[in-house]
Amino acid sequence: DRSLVWFRRDLRDFDHAALYHALRQSRGVYCAFIFDKAILDALPRADRRVEFILSSIGELAQALRGMGGGLIVLHGHAEREIPQLARRLSVGAVFTNRDYEPAAVQRDARVSAELQREGIAFHGCKDQVIFEKDEVLSLAGKPFSVFTPYKNAWLKKLHAQDDGFYLKAYPIAQHASRLAPPPAELAAAVPTLAQLGFEATNLRQIGIHPGMSGGEQLFEDFHGRLARYHEARDFPAVKGSSFLSAHLRFGTVSIRGLARQAVELMRLPEGGQGAATWLSELIWRDFYFMVLHHHPRVVDRAFKPEYDAVPWESGAEADELFDAWCEGRTGYPLVDAAMRQLKLTGYMHNRLRMVTACFLIKDLGIDWRRGERYFARELTDYELSSNNGGWQWAASSGCDAQPYFRIFNPVTQSQKFDAQGMFIRHYLPQLAALPAKHIHAPWLAPAGVLQQAGIAIGRDYPAPVVQHDEARLRTLARYAVVKKAR
Ligand code: FAD
Repeated sequence: DRSLVWFRRDLRDFDHAALYHALRQSRGVYCAFIFDKAILDALPRADRRVEFILSSIGELAQALRGMGGGLIVLHGHAEREIPQLARRLSVGAVFTNRDYEPAAVQRDARVSAELQREGIAFHGCKDQVIFEKDEVLSLAGKPFSVFTPYKNAWLKKLHAQDDGFYLKAYPIAQHASRLAPPPAELAAAVPTLAQLGFEATNLRQIGIHPGMSGGEQLFEDFHGRLARYHEARDFPAVKGSSFLSAHLRFGTVSIRGLARQAVELMRLPEGGQGAATWLSELIWRDFYFMVLHHHPRVVDRAFKPEYDAVPWESGAEADELFDAWCEGRTGYPLVDAAMRQLKLTGYMHNRLRMVTACFLIKDLGIDWRRGERYFARELTDYELSSNNGGWQWAASSGCDAQPYFRIFNPVTQSQKFDAQGMFIRHYLPQLAALPAKHIHAPWLAPAGVLQQAGIAIGRDYPAPVVQHDEARLRTLARYAVVKKAR
């Protein structure tokens, strides 16, 4: 009759599938979050995500208390803690929102089996996507491997049902009287960062506001810009996108709520294209979750298997180039500025994720998995499915029709998307005095211009670590194995 809701990456008290189903089906509903040692122990000791979660948990606990319930917060191995807690609270069922990462799927299967042995039910709910698993298939009943037909089928399914059916919010407040406060011995305060074994980061200083309130604030701010999203989103010096990615990662916003707003705005003449383009990005997110569900092997292998044969650079020289890339010392200003943005803020603009990923793979010849892992460590919004999808796109080994010989030129990208060099100047102040014309490839600037700007290449800013034209030819040769394999 009583049940437990296990919160993971859904840190909100509204429009929450698992919480809703638990409240509907039981008389007393406990809520819990486990700081899972199986995940935390592998992280660096200063990690913005841990702080983001901790702060979001504080807000969630308070919100649940405000509705007559509360949040039990434990620090241990979730796989053991959840069954133990379920026994201790004598609940008949555990409700949770599904997680599609292969490791989480396996963990949940073990938890479910353990609970079942004790006669406790385990319910997984769809919450973090609009459509999951097999919900959007091709006419032949197969999962899509290319985005555009997937998107068309996704939109068709959305509009096939009554208005807003799939985007409806799960009402929580009206059933909230069924929330149960935790027993006194489990009602301890949320642990501190230090108690979890972590150090503070610069999350607050850089203006990141976690929790439901932070997500709401960002969306309010973005709402007025949404109509121009399609024009503004590609320029890293412009505030064009929503910056909601970390909130989507930790579920402090509801994907249904966001998609609903986009669909509503799409109908207005003034909002149309911006909202449609933004909805498309939310569909990309569903797409990559779907790909991960159907092809869990992409976690460490190419989606297109013939690309696993590409021979990557390795050894001391490759390690040095990799370090230069991580630290923003490649000599290509847009790449370096982007890598600094990542290091300093835990975020990188989408266009620059594409540029820096292509640069690592196709200019430096380094295995995409190394770059993927680095992003996974540094990004506050790190999402296995989207990160893997983005990296495989850049490696041309993923779900995309784009051929491998389409190679980004880092200088042209810079001229096109940061024409005035505003983004570059912000993250590479040592280049600030260079005129826009020369900031994209400073090593080509006339000596007089460099002198006037007070810059010596090799002293104030590195010479390029590779020549793009030569690197391009090496990449074409490297990828030739793919053609042979066909
Ligand atoms: P907006 O432009 O406002 O988009 C709204 C939301 O749509 C995003 O928050 C995100 O949830 C989703 N979205 C947008 N673009 C994509 C996309 N291409 N694929 C999937 N979902 C998308 N996104 C992550 O959330 N986590 C990652 O770890 C991640 N790694 C990436 C790695 C590479 C190499 C590339 C090319 C892209 C990656 N992306 C990742 C996708 C994208 O860059 C970010 O989602 C976006 O920059 C986040 O900023 P925003 O919230 O302002 O996005």
